[in-house]
Amino acid sequence: MATLRVAPRAEAATMKSAQISKPGGDFEVVERPIPEPDAGHVRIKVKACGVCHSDAFVKEGMLPGIQYPRVPGHEVAGVIDEVGNGVSVWKRGQRVGVGWHGGHDNTCRECRRGDFRNCRNVKVSGISYDGGYQEYMVAPVEALVPIPDGLDDTDAAPLLDAGITTYNALRNSGAMPGDLVAVQGIGGLGHLGVQFANKFGYHVVAIGRGVETGVLARRLGAHVYLDSQTTNAAQELQKLGGADVILATAPSSKAMSALIDGLGPNGKLVVIGAAPDSIEIAPAQLIFGSKTIQGWAAGTPAASEDTLKFCVLSGVRPMIETYPLERTAEAYARMLSGDAQFRVVITMG
Ligand SMILES: [Zn+2]
Repeated sequence: MATLRVAPRAEAATMKSAQISKPGGDFEVVERPIPEPDAGHVRIKVKACGVCHSDAFVKEGMLPGIQYPRVPGHEVAGVIDEVGNGVSVWKRGQRVGVGWHGGHDNTCRECRRGDFRNCRNVKVSGISYDGGYQEYMVAPVEALVPIPDGLDDTDAAPLLDAGITTYNALRNSGAMPGDLVAVQGIGGLGHLGVQFANKFGYHVVAIGRGVETGVLARRLGAHVYLDSQTTNAAQELQKLGGADVILATAPSSKAMSALIDGLGPNGKLVVIGAAPDSIEIAPAQLIFGSKTIQGWAAGTPAASEDTLKFCVLSGVRPMIETYPLERTAEAYARMLSGDAQFRVVITMG
C-alpha cells in the first residue's frame, strides 16, 4: 500500500535586519523575508555597512515622508546575489557598493542635463528605501558602484559616503598642486580629507584639537598642524600666505566662522560638516579678496567609483571600528559619541 508523503511546507528564507520602527525608536534586529529584486534592481548580499551621522535622519525622524519601519544604511559594500528583469551589465557575484546617492529619475531637468547629483527626485539609500543595516538589500542599478580588487568591504563601505564627500569636494574645489589647503576637523570626514589632500599634492594644513590629534594628522599626511585650542588658526593660515581652500568637516558652525579670515585672495571655504546653527560672516569678509563659501554633498555613483579606484592607487584608507549587525545599537551610539577612531562599520556574519 502506497504511503502518502507530504512534503514539508517550504519556509520563506529570512534574513536579519536592524530596523527603526518609528521616529525616535531604538534599533530592533528582526527577521524579515529576503526581498526579491524588481526590474532594474539587484539584490546585494551585504558584507559591511558604515554608520553615518546622517542615519539620524531615519533614527530620529528628521525628514518628512520617511516610511517606517525603515532600515538605515548608505555606506553599503557587498556582492550581487540576484538580478531583476532587464539588468544586463551587472552580474551575480560582482562586488558592488551603494552610497548616499540611491537613485535618480533620468527625466527631470537636471538629469537631462547630466547633473544626476542634483536630480529633483533623487533617492537616498537607507532613507527612500531600506539600506544596508541588514543581510540583504535591494538597490536600483543606477545606484551601484563597482568595488575594485584590492579594497576590503569594511574599507570600501565608509568610502562610499565619507570618502567620496571629501574626495569630490577637494577635487572640485579648484585647488591646484602646491596650493595651501586646510582641513578643519580630524574626524570621520577629516581623517580622509587630510589623506586625499596629501595625495592630490596640496600643501596640507590640518586644524584640530589637542596635541595627540596633531601626531595623527601628520601621520595621515598633514605638512602643518594647527591646534585650534592653543592657536588662532585663521591668523596662522595668513602667516602661511592664506588658504586657497579650507575644507570644513567638523560640525561646528562657530569654528567655521572663525576660519573665514584664514582664506587668502580668491580663497574658498568648502562646507561639508553639517551643524544646525548658522555660519556667521560679515559681507566685507567675502568682498575683500573675492572669497567664496560653497557647500558640497557627496556625488554620483560614478564619482564613488573614481573614489574607490583612487584609494586603491594611492593607498588612502579609512580608519574604522567594526561591530556585528546584532550590536547595531551599540555601533550607532559609538558613532554618536564622537569618540570612534574614526568610522564605525557594521559587518554581517
Ligand atoms: Zn532627475
